[in-house]
Amino acid sequence: MRKAFISPTKYVQGENELLNLGFYIKSFGESALVIGNPGDIERVQDKLDKTAERFGITLHLADFGGEATREEVNRLKKLAKEKGTDIIVGVGGGKAIDTSKTVANGHNLIVCPTIAATDAPTSHSAVLYTKDHHFDEYAYFIQSPSVVLMDTTVIAQAPARFLISGMGDALATYYEARATRRSNSNVNAGLPNGYHTGDTAPAKGTIASITLARACYETVIENGYNAKIACDNNVVTPALENIIEANTLLSGLGFESGGLAAAHAIYNGLTVLDGPHNYFHGEQVAFTTFVQLILENAPNDEVEALLDFNLSVGLPVSLADLDVVEVKYEEILKVAEKACIPEESIHAMPFEVTPESVAQAIIAADAIGRDYKKRKSVK
Ligand SMILES: [Zn+2]
Repeated sequence: MRKAFISPTKYVQGENELLNLGFYIKSFGESALVIGNPGDIERVQDKLDKTAERFGITLHLADFGGEATREEVNRLKKLAKEKGTDIIVGVGGGKAIDTSKTVANGHNLIVCPTIAATDAPTSHSAVLYTKDHHFDEYAYFIQSPSVVLMDTTVIAQAPARFLISGMGDALATYYEARATRRSNSNVNAGLPNGYHTGDTAPAKGTIASITLARACYETVIENGYNAKIACDNNVVTPALENIIEANTLLSGLGFESGGLAAAHAIYNGLTVLDGPHNYFHGEQVAFTTFVQLILENAPNDEVEALLDFNLSVGLPVSLADLDVVEVKYEEILKVAEKACIPEESIHAMPFEVTPESVAQAIIAADAIGRDYKKRKSVK
């Protein structure tokens, strides 16, 4: 049986770790193109200046336009050439990092997230958008980033909502990897470069990926609440460090090499509704993970552990929490139909799923979540 596992060459996290960025750049060359939103660069400018000076390297700052488009990628590729460097540093959140991944195209890439809101930084893929912010395509690269560098001090100073959203995304990882393993479905790690041309090479998950996914779950449940409080107060504690690792490294390796299933497919389905648009990826995934548990009729203590956790950190447990106030079956069926298109990861569930069964699970989860919240008398 063919199995695959993919990861960055190096993952490093620590307080003020950005001061060591120059060290990693130096292992590739003398200068780098830094891609980030002006606001994010400003937050770390002082550290960039210090590390450049300390390690004797040149940083070329490329004002990132804000959207991960093919045009922006081409502009930045040209800029890197003009500056005579092929070392790319991505600083900031999802779009700046996805753009930097595409500019680097699998080589000499250092990713420095300034938030821990999703598990995307470690992956060998990126999402590209059109200029008017619509989905364009998934891009896959030959390798994951060379270095993923997490400065915990910077992340502790970002709004806690990002970190909490990252926990929502991270909690999906184990349940989806477990479903993928039960159904013996393929994982993304097996894809070679050129996947989008249809040249697929199926591979299953490894013991490593399911183990990391399980560790991710346990770490989030154990440390999530205390990490939220630490982040609310902009301080770095062991709990916050554990959550940064879980949200980024454990969840990132766990999803890419362990597989996605219902939670992320239903998340994609939610895009047909208006309400959830104002919520982050991980906030929506927090609810769709709960839907997956209802769909697979997971044990009650598992369901309650997830609901208790979501309530403790302020993650959604119902559609109302995602601003979907009126729940109509026909609309929910549209969500479920989108979640069940043939190429969706929902078919990695270890039983047959239909738009009808998914719609009913969404409606049941919503009702259970609202009732649970009332019983726990959380306002
Ligand atoms: Zn996700």
